Amino acid sequence: MLEIKGLEVIYQGVIQGLSDLSLKVPQGSIVALLGANGAGKTTTLKAISNFLPLEDGRVTKGTITLEGDNILKLAPHEIVRRGVFHVREGRYVFSDMTVEENLIAATFAKKGSQSRQAAFDEVYTYFPILSQRRRQMAGYLSGGEQQMLAIGRALVADPRVILLDEPSLGLAPLIVNEIFEIIARINREKKVSILLVEQNAMIALKYASYGYVLESGHSVLEGTTQDLAANKDIQKFYLGRV
Ligand code: ATP
Repeated sequence: MLEIKGLEVIYQGVIQGLSDLSLKVPQGSIVALLGANGAGKTTTLKAISNFLPLEDGRVTKGTITLEGDNILKLAPHEIVRRGVFHVREGRYVFSDMTVEENLIAATFAKKGSQSRQAAFDEVYTYFPILSQRRRQMAGYLSGGEQQMLAIGRALVADPRVILLDEPSLGLAPLIVNEIFEIIARINREKKVSILLVEQNAMIALKYASYGYVLESGHSVLEGTTQDLAANKDIQKFYLGRV
């Protein structure tokens, strides 16, 4: 289980990114973070993976634990080695490298005894299109294929938790559904926990089991996604229903 308690994040010494945020991602679950632009969703993921210093951000209060161990002070590569892999918004893939080279580059983080080829084969089983494209430059892939590759890079690392930032961004609804079906399979079959940041509340509430709604850096509402989907405010502000 990944757990955040009383987290405060400050950027550039003055700008509040998060204040007193607490949340839990139980083993094997999909948990969604919802909220408007600037609510603190991406900051939460960056705090977990320790990417904040790159943007002059800092955790000033609180704890982040993985199975009871404090991971707050660990370097980003050590957090990856503990099994927490951050799939960043904007599909960070190496565009001048082939699909397979992108997967090879992720093997630095690989754990377990599974061979490199077996790890790649597993990625290709979940995303058969990547197998067809394995010798193509990632920069020439479609947006959906790049998102698949970004998730595939996480899979190579044999993660326990994937931090998934806006996987639906800029993609056509059909592709979004296809990608989420595969994410759900990965969650189910590999027991990987997923902390999902999504602007698309409809899809987040469909695939996650529990959700938190962030506003100004802290959680103002939490509950099972079934309860959240029935909540009038959620329906009005996030699902576009009146
Ligand atoms: P979005 O969907 O727009 O990414 P978000 O919910 O992910 O929104 P964050 O990006 O986490 O929100 O931003 C939370 C707060 O922290 C905002 O007030 C934002 O302006 C501030 N913030 C985020 N990144 C930085 C940064 N690099 N430097 C300064 N302030 C930042």
